[in-house]
Amino acid sequence: MLLRHTTDKVKERKALTVNPAKTCQPVGAMYAALGIHGCLPHSHGSQGCCSYHRSTLTRHYKEPVMAATSSFTEGSSVFGGQSNLLQGIGNIFSIYDPDIIAVHSTCLSETIGDDLGQIVAKARTDGKVPEGKHVIQAATPSYVGSHVTGYANMLEGIVKYFATNTDKLINQINLLAGWIEPSDMKELKRILSLMGVNSVLLPDTSDVLDTPMTGKYTMYPKGGTTIPEMVSMGDSLYSVGLGEWGTQKAAIALDNQCKVKFSIEDLPIGLKATDRFIQTLSKVGSVSVPESINDERGKLVDAITDMHQYLYGKRVALWGDPDQLIPLTEFLVDMDMKPVYIVSGTPGKSFDKRMKAILGDRVPEAKFKNGAAADMHLMHQWIKEESVDLLIGNTYGKYISRDENIPFVRMGFPIIDRIGHSYFSTMGYMGGLRILEKMLAVIMDYQDANCPEESFELTM
Ligand code: SF4
Repeated sequence: MLLRHTTDKVKERKALTVNPAKTCQPVGAMYAALGIHGCLPHSHGSQGCCSYHRSTLTRHYKEPVMAATSSFTEGSSVFGGQSNLLQGIGNIFSIYDPDIIAVHSTCLSETIGDDLGQIVAKARTDGKVPEGKHVIQAATPSYVGSHVTGYANMLEGIVKYFATNTDKLINQINLLAGWIEPSDMKELKRILSLMGVNSVLLPDTSDVLDTPMTGKYTMYPKGGTTIPEMVSMGDSLYSVGLGEWGTQKAAIALDNQCKVKFSIEDLPIGLKATDRFIQTLSKVGSVSVPESINDERGKLVDAITDMHQYLYGKRVALWGDPDQLIPLTEFLVDMDMKPVYIVSGTPGKSFDKRMKAILGDRVPEAKFKNGAAADMHLMHQWIKEESVDLLIGNTYGKYISRDENIPFVRMGFPIIDRIGHSYFSTMGYMGGLRILEKMLAVIMDYQDANCPEESFELTM
């Protein structure tokens, strides 16, 4: 009993978070920056912050994550970190030679009031940014928001810096990706190519955080959105943002700066959200849906129908990021499952509205909450009040899974005790099949391990 002190007595908490269902803003800023080719993230704060951000990403992706830090000392904490960052920018370009440095702030540098824009501008006038090299920045104070907010802020910073409108339209769309895995980025590109839609995917962490073992260390892997691609986004026909929390700011910035119209869609997780994504691509790319995509859809519908008896009425508890939870909840409801408890540490007003619309009359008993007080402790208390059949979320749910003996599917960020997420996507129709397979595997394993002997079946 690792969480033996958790009780089922839920008390309204305003100023206390216990086991948050989120991580810190700079982790997201770092992840977004890694999706640009030749980019070195830089954490403007203490070494401890940078170590935490890097180790969180390294543990999840099982790849070495490189980043620099302004390495604040007591002096910089009192008098400001300008000189550290100026010296850092000069050193990074001369020693590590990236094309881009992506600087994000931290709690400390935000609290003392360092102005990243002013410091980066000074670095340029002081000649610390070589010709053809770039420094971008994003404010990521971690005492508000979450890793998703930091991701969105860095994505906005990237777009604002690079996207340029030359009044010569390019036959392509911008696909702004919310926080998804490298495998998901690959799957999105595969779908776009099957649909025959020209696009720029931003960011693109495939071939960056899922690289093969070659025996040779490469500081800047071959993947990532390139500078010419990012510049060209200002001349694209349209932008599609996948995930309100992760991409809305960047899509609005592109519209304001370059007059590229946009729509915000859900991440294509599950049947209906993928349907909407495919329809949007078909409309904005002026293409018809190919037979191969229809076949994939048919396979998912077939599997859902075949397996309905095992999933029907199963009570599920979910936690993670809103952009993933919303389409995932919809997918579960569409399979007649019951997502009864949902928490996200990421704040945002539309979470409540979206969840109400999805769960509505179909799961009226569902409890959902987001923001700082929507934590894993609250989730555990709800489960103690009335248990569930399945848990879906990041690694931090393993304590509840063990204590309450509930089957557990790992999904979201971070997953630091299993592999697979970097290589096997949960996006699109084929990703829906993967989610289905993972859920069935743990539900059937649980049944086999716990059912009476006379009910032990060889065949599903
Ligand atoms: S101090 Fe702030 S930025 Fe640094 S690791 Fe903690 S939450 Fe993140």
